Amino acid sequence: MRDLVIIGAGPGGFDTAIHAKELGLDVVLIEKHIVGGTCLNYGCIPTKALYHNAKSIKLMKDLDVFGINVSDYSIDYSVIKERKETIVSNQVKNILTTIKKLKIDLIEGTASIKDRHTVIVNNEEIHTKNIIIATGSSPRLIPFEGDNLPVVHSSKDILALDTFPKKMVVIGAGVIGCEMATIFNQFDCDVTLVEYQNEILPPLDQDIKKRARNLYKRQGINIMTSASLQSVKEVDGLYYAVIDHKGKILEVETDYVLVSTGRQPNFGGLPLEEVGIDYTKQGIIVNSNFETSLSDVYAIGDVTGILMLAHKATYDGYKVVSHILKKDMAINFNQVPSVVFSFPEIASVGLVESDLEGTEYRKNKFMFKTNAKAQCLNETDGFVKMLVDENDILVGCHIIGPHASDLIHEVSTIMYKNINISEYKNIIHAHPTISEVVSECIKGFH
Ligand code: FAD
Repeated sequence: MRDLVIIGAGPGGFDTAIHAKELGLDVVLIEKHIVGGTCLNYGCIPTKALYHNAKSIKLMKDLDVFGINVSDYSIDYSVIKERKETIVSNQVKNILTTIKKLKIDLIEGTASIKDRHTVIVNNEEIHTKNIIIATGSSPRLIPFEGDNLPVVHSSKDILALDTFPKKMVVIGAGVIGCEMATIFNQFDCDVTLVEYQNEILPPLDQDIKKRARNLYKRQGINIMTSASLQSVKEVDGLYYAVIDHKGKILEVETDYVLVSTGRQPNFGGLPLEEVGIDYTKQGIIVNSNFETSLSDVYAIGDVTGILMLAHKATYDGYKVVSHILKKDMAINFNQVPSVVFSFPEIASVGLVESDLEGTEYRKNKFMFKTNAKAQCLNETDGFVKMLVDENDILVGCHIIGPHASDLIHEVSTIMYKNINISEYKNIIHAHPTISEVVSECIKGFH
């Protein structure tokens, strides 16, 4: 009898396998495709590799501000693709090395569950005390007329491009849509971003999304909100996205339609109903220890449909291991930082104003434009916004601006420790740094 079988080796599955093994559990990890899952192979890592290509192009376009003249440049797409693939394969190798070093049993195959203590893979039964389902998610594609045309793609396809499109329509302005829109815009692609709701990045702080919209527009992205894709059609070898924008029908010529309308849980072909695991179309239902309706069977990460982020999947798994070992880890799942890698970066942690309605909360904002380091970087757009509750405890922070993805972790730490803002003000920040924007924002609460 093994201690733990994990189905799926994405950031939920493989990180949990490593953690569990390090804590002495006898672990089996089963993956039907490539270790690293969506995040490493089709998500976080390849997009961020492209993001940094786009960032370099952006910097080069702005070099005149620094007195440097680069009047001509060319882009070698094959190098971009190779760089991205090398990063991904290096990361896959790193994971495989760790798995080997720790002597974790990694089985290649599609797993199924027979009962709460039996997993089947490659026609063999594995008996185990505990099972974790970490089968992830896949793109949710909306059906429309023309959805079978060769210009229509998901976020998985776009990361395998050989050449870059010149005209792109992005359907859905969530995190993936906005990241892709801003990245491809830097590659001199003419981008139209279409969002069904009346604002882009719907779940984010209201001021952040307004600001993001203005900054994206300023970069030349054509944004249509309260708009929906009706169809994609081909006329004389050219393709058009037909869009209903506030009742007006528009035809936008395009050579790439990216459908980024969300993700759905991937139940991995598991017989959930037959074995008694409750689920909805949003995901497998779990309790606060990520245990499903079938005891000793847990579900973590995207397959639960709760906050689809790689680091969240990993910490879900840590929580499960701590539960199995009866050594509870005090992870605060209300404080999961999230980042949008667009230009500029956006990062958030904790509550937004609408969560605090009816309470005596206070807010403060500090702009990047007065920060000396931001001026040196020539990246002065954006602000830090903080929300504190009636006890002067920081409960939410939303950043749009340079290095937002790094700055957010200082704030997360403070929030985790429940430090009062008067104490936070005592923490010295070095000068001149971007971190001073966070420090100034906190000092602004009197
Ligand atoms: P996955 O990574 O999806 O892994 C699930 C694994 O299970 C897969 O490898 C699959 O092959 C395997 N599997 C499924 N069924 C079976 C079976 N029956 N038997 C065996 N194996 C099976 N998140 C971030 O935090 N930051 C980002 O910057 C970010 N960027 C993203 C960009 C894009 C374009 C996309 C699509 C996603 C991005 N995400 C990002 C989200 C992130 O990728 C996911 O939240 C994360 O991968 C979820 O991890 P997981 O372990 O739950 O599932």
